[in-house]
Amino acid sequence: PSFSDLQLSPGIIKAIRDIGYEEPTPIQQEVIPLILAGNDVAGQAYTGTGKTAAFGIPAIELCQPANRNVQTIVLCPSRELAVQVGTELNKLAMHKKGISILPVYGGQPIERQIKALSRGVQIIIGTPGRVIDHIKRKTLLLDAVSLVVLDEADQMLDMGFREDIEEILSHIPKERQTVILSATFPPEILDISRRFQKNPIDVKM
Ligand code: AMP
Repeated sequence: PSFSDLQLSPGIIKAIRDIGYEEPTPIQQEVIPLILAGNDVAGQAYTGTGKTAAFGIPAIELCQPANRNVQTIVLCPSRELAVQVGTELNKLAMHKKGISILPVYGGQPIERQIKALSRGVQIIIGTPGRVIDHIKRKTLLLDAVSLVVLDEADQMLDMGFREDIEEILSHIPKERQTVILSATFPPEILDISRRFQKNPIDVKM
């Protein structure tokens, strides 16, 4: 199996080669085509499996540079993860022009984020609390989002972000794809999946 079997555009193939990934990891082989084909995915995946690129590659492929609205939002439990995911997505997008990717997390001055958001960002990687803050300030509009990723969903629930996640999802059009990645699928995650996903495809690593 190789990245060139996954029907990716030349720009992203070049980025993958520049980063140095030689072949897709098992979760990438399964999840990339599923997301590109428009499916919701419930993926059981630990850190270290290549889960970030598994959703990052299709998010970048699906992103339309001419559209300056937020198209993908990734929610994750910590600022460290938000920054890490942002760095990886920026690398994957290095040969696709006109794509702006922004991590938004608590602890960073909000004014700087507001300025960056006002310039037009298509992919947001955020921690739930700060995302809610921007929604309330109307500095982040989610009505053009077509792909949502809940990364490390079990961690987010453990940290008490359940209500924030539900609030954020209520601001996103129902006509969208929802991807849940989680190391474990306890009943609370299954409940979120049942309520917010459409015919999710289960992927297990
Ligand atoms: P993650 O599970 O997303 O935290 O990724 C774990 C590590 O694997 C990160 O350092 C990635 O840069 C790396 N990685 C992701 N995909 C690949 C791949 N296809 N080949 C080699 N390394 C990868």
